[in-house]
Amino acid sequence: TFITFEGGEGAGKSTQVERLARALRAAHARPVHVTREPGGSERAEEIRAALLAGAAKPYGPFAEALLFAAARIDHLDRLIRPALAAGEVVLCDRFMDSTRAYQGAAGGLDPGTVAALERVVVGRTRPDLTLILDLPPETGLARARTRAAGEGPDRFEAEALDFHARLRAAFRAIAEAEPARCTVIDASQAPDSVEAAIRAAVDARLPG
Ligand code: C5P
Repeated sequence: TFITFEGGEGAGKSTQVERLARALRAAHARPVHVTREPGGSERAEEIRAALLAGAAKPYGPFAEALLFAAARIDHLDRLIRPALAAGEVVLCDRFMDSTRAYQGAAGGLDPGTVAALERVVVGRTRPDLTLILDLPPETGLARARTRAAGEGPDRFEAEALDFHARLRAAFRAIAEAEPARCTVIDASQAPDSVEAAIRAAVDARLPG
């Protein structure tokens, strides 16, 4: 079972991934992997570091998308596909919808290129369920600014509010276009309420 978490900055994705993992581990015997993008495998984490360090010297949108793609291929091949093939659960903090939203809708990479990359990189390894953590960009950015700066401020958080407004619209449009795969979760609620909404969505969409 493959579940992805998507949304803008400060939506609480990493907290909620951990909480869902804890709940699923308590409920089932199946191994539950928690992973993230960009990153998730050793080589992909190296590419992540290069991408985030590139804040001061950004790549162009196409080169950036190819770096994300290279990281995703490694992550899929080494972790996600083997785990799914073994019948295990994979919870991933960001996946292909972040490429559609960040590099595509908000970043200006043309939709044909985004779709072509998705086809060759992701192929048939589509999430069974995508939880879109939705909240106003003002709220998300304020949260992102106050959290511990583990990797330091990155360029994405420094971008203008309208970039984040485009991201939000893009994620919501994805949910509307693919309702069988995606559920929008109100992430402006308190963490316990967000967790409960996620549990309800998982139980409804992926019984057993
Ligand atoms: O979710 P997380 O904060 O770990 O993501 C790291 C950074 O990479 C974020 O600032 C996010 O905006 C950015 N990102 C991106 N394009 C993607 C995925 C993440 O610009 N496809």
